[in-house]
Amino acid sequence: MTESQTAIRNSQFASAWAEIDLAAIAHNVQLLKRALTPPTRLMAVVKANAYGHGAVPVAQTALRNGAEWLGVARVAEGRELRDAQIAAPILVLGPIAPVEAEVAVQSRLRVAVASLTVARALSDAAQQHNLVTPVHLKIDTGMTRFGVPCDQAVAFARALQALPSLRLEGAFTHFASADDADLAFTQQQAERFARTVDELARANIPIMLRHAANSAGTLASDQFHFDLVRAGIAMYGVCPAEHLSLRDQLRPALSLKSRVALVRAVSAGTSIGYGRTFVSKRAIGVALVSIGYADGVRRALSNRGEVLIRGKRARILGRVSMDQIVVRADEVGAQEGDEVTLIGTQGDEQISAAEVAGWADTIPYEVLTGIGARVPRVYSQQ
Ligand SMILES: *Cc1c(COP(=O)(O)O)cnc(C)c1O
Repeated sequence: MTESQTAIRNSQFASAWAEIDLAAIAHNVQLLKRALTPPTRLMAVVKANAYGHGAVPVAQTALRNGAEWLGVARVAEGRELRDAQIAAPILVLGPIAPVEAEVAVQSRLRVAVASLTVARALSDAAQQHNLVTPVHLKIDTGMTRFGVPCDQAVAFARALQALPSLRLEGAFTHFASADDADLAFTQQQAERFARTVDELARANIPIMLRHAANSAGTLASDQFHFDLVRAGIAMYGVCPAEHLSLRDQLRPALSLKSRVALVRAVSAGTSIGYGRTFVSKRAIGVALVSIGYADGVRRALSNRGEVLIRGKRARILGRVSMDQIVVRADEVGAQEGDEVTLIGTQGDEQISAAEVAGWADTIPYEVLTGIGARVPRVYSQQ
């Protein structure tokens, strides 16, 4: 390593960074895979930069450990995986615009379709390249978001069949509340989906690949597995609900860290930060930490959240700023240069993405995907 490479490497650990444990991803993928009965396949959902973990390294790790498919939300996300020489089948799960059809076909992406305009654009693009492009029919069974309503599925599938350069490879639906302990609605959705796929078969439109389950559906019951499951959050080591199986076996893959930049003493009656929302009652020691809301520390953690320093919890004082936070330092003995953990483990203490989500009145998905683009991701295989 040259001197400047070493300097760059060290600077990654200077202010805010995220450590991604690829061995944890591998472990979680293997756990999920073991929960499936062959020939049910596993799709690793790596949309939104793999929920903030880095799409390419996560996709490569998932494929090496039993996942056979990749799921993304956008065409550009699929393109990024192809640019990294990833050859596995990739399904774009969300709606695409007709202008994206050309890139989708060129990149050999499977696309979810619920619009005839998009289907025509895909067929036209495929025809120009002398290709047949596989698509998956998205069926809405109760999420009321993206998809063709059940009672229109046969007519829509017939229209797809009439397009010369499309092949209807799969059909799928998405659960609205599979993380709920009460599975009645999920069961209803699964039944509607199964019935619709049967109707398609009777109309001479056989579906090779049927899929419905997200992580919660996968962990809730094998009745939701069909031919493939689409796992996102569980692969990152976050269980979508307290009651689900494997909860204690999943390993969180991401730690969010920073450093103490400065330690100072403040006297009684001193206000800290924007808006002066914290005023010290007595003399205390505080530490400045080089991370803020631009890095993904939610402003809702102002006067509320905690961080780990020297294996102990330290409270955030005052407002979270764009690039910095101030925390209580004297109780934990914080020193300049100390590592600060915002998500992850130090000694016997742990702060999970779910705990952070609780402070911010949101869900771990938003906490993880909200980690800023400027935060370097550092990978380990521990
Ligand atoms: C994001 C997504 C998933 C993965 O959901 P998790 O709850 O993270 O497992 C599965 N299917 C679709 C259609 C999605 O958009």
